[in-house]
Amino acid sequence: KPKAIVIGAGIAGIASAIHLSIKGYDVEVFEANSKPGGKLGEIKMNGFRFDAGPSLFTMPQYVDELFKLAGKNPEDYFKYIKLKEVCRYFYEDGLRLNATSDLDKFARDIEEKTNSTAAEVEHFFKKSETIYEVTHRVFLERSLHKLKSYLHWDTLKSIFRFGQIDAFRTQASANQSFFKDERITQLFNRYATYNGSNPYQAPATLNVIPHFEYHFGAFIPKDGMYGIVKALIKLAEELGIRFHYSQKVEEILYTNENKPKINGVKVNDKTYKAEVVISNLDIWFTYKNLLKGIAEPKKLLTQERSSSALIFYWGMDGNYSDLGLHNIFFTEDYQNEFNAIWKEKTICNDPTVYVNISAKHLRGDAPANAENWFVMINVPANTGQNWDQLIKESRTNIIKKISRILNRNIEKDIICEQILDPRSIESKTGSYQGSLYGNSSNNQFSAFLRHPNFSSKVKNLYFCGGSVHPGGGIPLALLSAKIIDDDISSVVH
Ligand code: FAD
Repeated sequence: KPKAIVIGAGIAGIASAIHLSIKGYDVEVFEANSKPGGKLGEIKMNGFRFDAGPSLFTMPQYVDELFKLAGKNPEDYFKYIKLKEVCRYFYEDGLRLNATSDLDKFARDIEEKTNSTAAEVEHFFKKSETIYEVTHRVFLERSLHKLKSYLHWDTLKSIFRFGQIDAFRTQASANQSFFKDERITQLFNRYATYNGSNPYQAPATLNVIPHFEYHFGAFIPKDGMYGIVKALIKLAEELGIRFHYSQKVEEILYTNENKPKINGVKVNDKTYKAEVVISNLDIWFTYKNLLKGIAEPKKLLTQERSSSALIFYWGMDGNYSDLGLHNIFFTEDYQNEFNAIWKEKTICNDPTVYVNISAKHLRGDAPANAENWFVMINVPANTGQNWDQLIKESRTNIIKKISRILNRNIEKDIICEQILDPRSIESKTGSYQGSLYGNSSNNQFSAFLRHPNFSSKVKNLYFCGGSVHPGGGIPLALLSAKIIDDDISSVVH
C-alpha cells in the first residue's frame, strides 16, 4: 500500500486521513497535542463539560458523507438534532428577538417588534440564496487554483453571474439598504464574524452565510461538538488509521531534485517515509517551521488575519430561563466595536457578547440546577497587546452588560472559571496570532488570497484546514479535505 502521513489531527486532518484511507493508502497521523480535535476541543471542570471552540454546527451532511464514503451508516456513529430556535438576540434598549428556524415566524417577529418588515427579511434571504447558488461550486467545493475547475459548465455559468454576488459593496452598507431598522441591520451584519471578518470592510458576498444557517439548518450533536471528533476518530481507527499523539512534526522532507517530491516527515529526529503528506497546520507555521528551503508565498502569508476570541468558560449555579442554547447580547455601537478590533487592535468597553449553553439541550453537560456558560467576545488577533489587562477589563464589562440586560446579578453565580485568549489559542492549537479562521475575508479578493490545497513546489504535498482554501469553520475545513481527495486520485498511482 502507498503510505500517507497527515500532520495534525484537527477536523480537516482527521477527514483527510479518512479520505486517503478509503482511497487505499496506509495512513498515519502525527498530532502535537495529547488529544485530537485542535480548535474543536473540550474542557471538563467541576462536573461541567464545555466545547472549547466551535459551538454552532452547520452542514452536518459533510460529516455524514465521510461515514457513507466508508460504507457505514452515519447514525451508527454520530447523531445530531436540528434546532428549532437558532439564536436569542438581546439589545440594550430592551428588544428581544428569537430567531426560529421557521423563517416566516422569525420574519413576523421582526415585523411585530421593530421598524423592519417581514418582506425585507424575505428579500434579504432571496439574495442570500442567489449568492449561494452562484458561489458554492466555484468558491467552496473546488480548487480555485486548477484549470480543470474552470472547465465545468456549472462553474462557467456561475462566472457569468458574478455580478449578482454583491462583491463590490460592504456587507454593512448592503444590509443598511435591505433593512429600515438598524437593529436588524446589526443582526445580519453579525454574520461577518462567522469567519472572523469585519462587516464594515468585508464584501456583502458574506450575506451567503445566513443561507447556510436557515436553509440547511443549525444543529447540535447529541454528544456535543466534541462528539464530531470522537465519532470521526472511531471511524478512522476502524479503517486502520494510526494516530500518534504528543508527536510534534519538526520537518517536512522532500527529495532534492529539479522538481522536488515529498519524502516524508521528521518527528523527534526520526524519519517517517511517505508518498503523500498532508499538512493540517496553520499554513503560516507550515512554511515558517516545517518547510525548510522552500520560499514562502509572501503575499498570501502577509494577508490580514481573521479575528480571535476571548472566552470565559463559566460553571453557573442556577438556571436562566431567559436564555437558550445560543444567545447574543448586542453592543449599542457596532461600528465602534469593529473599529476597536480592526483599527485600534483592542477591545471596546461595550463588546457584543455571545453566550452558548450546551446544557440547555445536553443536560449531562452541567450538574443539576446549574448551567455551563461559554461566554465569548470577538477580539483582535494577537500582536502583543496587554492581554492580562484587557481580559480583566472585559470580564468586568461583560458581567455588567449581561447582568444589566437580564436584570440579575450574574457574578455571584459563577462557581468555576477557565479562560482562553488569543495567546492560548495560538499555543494550544498552533493558530498564528490566535486567529480563529486563518486570513480574514475583509476584501473582495480574499477567496483568491488563501493558499491552495496543494504545493506547487513539492509534488504530493497538500494542505488542509481552516487557514487554506476554501477557508475557516468546520464545513469549509471539511471541504478542504474533499478537494484534496479529488486531486489525489489524479496525481498519484
Ligand atoms: P485545527 O483545529 O487548527 O488543528 C490543527 C492541529 O494541528 C492541532 O490539533 C494542532 O495541535 C496540530 N499541530 C500543530 N502543529 C503541529 C505539528 N508541528 N505537528 C503535529 N501536529 C501539529 N467553526 C464553526 O464551524 N462553528 C463555530 O461555531 C466556530 N466557533 C469557533 C470558536 C472558537 C473559539 C474557535 C477557536 C474556533 C471556532 N470555529 C468555528 C472555527 C473552527 O474551530 C476551525 O475552523 C476548525 O476547527 C479548524 O480545523 P482545522 O482542521 O484547520 O485544524
